[in-house]
Amino acid sequence: RKCLNRIKKTQHLNAYISVTEEQALIQAQEAETRLLKGSPKGLLDGIPFAVKDNFSTQNIKTTCASRMLKDYTPPFNATVVQKLLDQGAVLLGKTNMDEFAMGSGSTDGAFGPVRNPWSYAAPYRENTGLDPNSDWVVTGGSSGGSAAAVASLTSYLALGSDTGGSTRNPGALCGVVALKPTYGLLSRHGLIPLVNSLDVPGIITRSVGDAALVLDVLQGVDVKDSTTILPQSSSAHIPEDVDVSALCVGIPKEYHAPGLSMETVEQWSRVADMFERAGARVELVSLPHTQYSIVCYHVLCCTEVASNMVRFDGLEYGHRSEMDSSTETMYAISRHEGFNDVVRGRILSGNYFLLKQSYEHYFLKAQKVRRLITEDFKHVFNSGVDVLLTPTTLSDATRYSDFTKEDNRTRSSQEDVFTQPVNLAGLSAISIPTALSRRGLPIGLQLIAPALQDKRLLSVAQWIE
Ligand code: GLN
Repeated sequence: RKCLNRIKKTQHLNAYISVTEEQALIQAQEAETRLLKGSPKGLLDGIPFAVKDNFSTQNIKTTCASRMLKDYTPPFNATVVQKLLDQGAVLLGKTNMDEFAMGSGSTDGAFGPVRNPWSYAAPYRENTGLDPNSDWVVTGGSSGGSAAAVASLTSYLALGSDTGGSTRNPGALCGVVALKPTYGLLSRHGLIPLVNSLDVPGIITRSVGDAALVLDVLQGVDVKDSTTILPQSSSAHIPEDVDVSALCVGIPKEYHAPGLSMETVEQWSRVADMFERAGARVELVSLPHTQYSIVCYHVLCCTEVASNMVRFDGLEYGHRSEMDSSTETMYAISRHEGFNDVVRGRILSGNYFLLKQSYEHYFLKAQKVRRLITEDFKHVFNSGVDVLLTPTTLSDATRYSDFTKEDNRTRSSQEDVFTQPVNLAGLSAISIPTALSRRGLPIGLQLIAPALQDKRLLSVAQWIE
């Protein structure tokens, strides 16, 4: 009830697309009865959670923040949602996002932008003198609603999705913990796809320990997703006394990217020094193909989007236009009315990249570059580096008015420069808040570990925390 009240009090954040109040209260009541009897349903009995609106939820609208799916109610739960419910967790509602998870600001959804709760907090208001009601800062995205839900204390945990950084980016900008597990460790069944070969469900929590617990509940093979893999170990209890002096921490030199703020660099150095003082080996390493990851991601993303979005034709799924003088017209107008310009742009680009004459030049080339990026990481990890320490984002959160300026589109496409390579290589990574900037906004750092080293990643993250 406290969470639901807080959701009402923080409606101005626009973090939720739907709130499942009635159901939540019933579930909570049932959990309370079980807990009073001393027989909890599972590890998360009674714990409230929120879910990004691109995960299917049975009998609850799942819109992907798009007009295309504004009336879509799935008949089943995504595996990760079902697993949380099976442990007794209580669903509070579905969170706001960029349309179909395409974006880095949570400014591009059909239900309006999400506002970063830190815009309303005293440090930001006092340091900038700005009125958050007229100019707030963005949450990052595309899982901005989930990050805002955890940051504003309306929920203890939230699911996001991470294709190129969409969980870690808002996690960093909202000052919460955001885990992108190894590709395949968590089932994608019921997650409406953006890029099937890159998508993973992400976990957003208030602490690293909570993320570990949730990972333990969610990980594992799912017969409904053939890309799922067997976890190496349980992550429920991560050792508190990680031996940092035995660690080798890599600092990728290419991550000193254009646009990186001084304050972020300061944080990065501060934590690197912390490792060094604790006896860890901190080494400058090279990931030479980093600079190509944004374009490589872009080509692969658009091509998969072009094929994934075919299903939204007004017949099989989604909004159907009244203008149906012919089948062709009905398809075209439904898609025009249903999708925003970001989605339409990616569909067009993707179909172009897949044309017979461009396929080799764009799609196949991007696949090759993807392998080079993956090999960069392999090389570094094989040379003895245990984890990489990097910034998560270029700077603290941007003001909405700046973020949405037309000439800023290029900058926002650079926003994922530190996170996208991790998806291209299928690794595990986590963003953790490390400080407040001088403006009073969170700064996050990212740790990256080899695939299936999620537990180790979490224990190092907990050491920083
Ligand atoms: N910002 C990236 C994009 O727009 C990543 C999105 C994501 O991870 N879902 O594609």
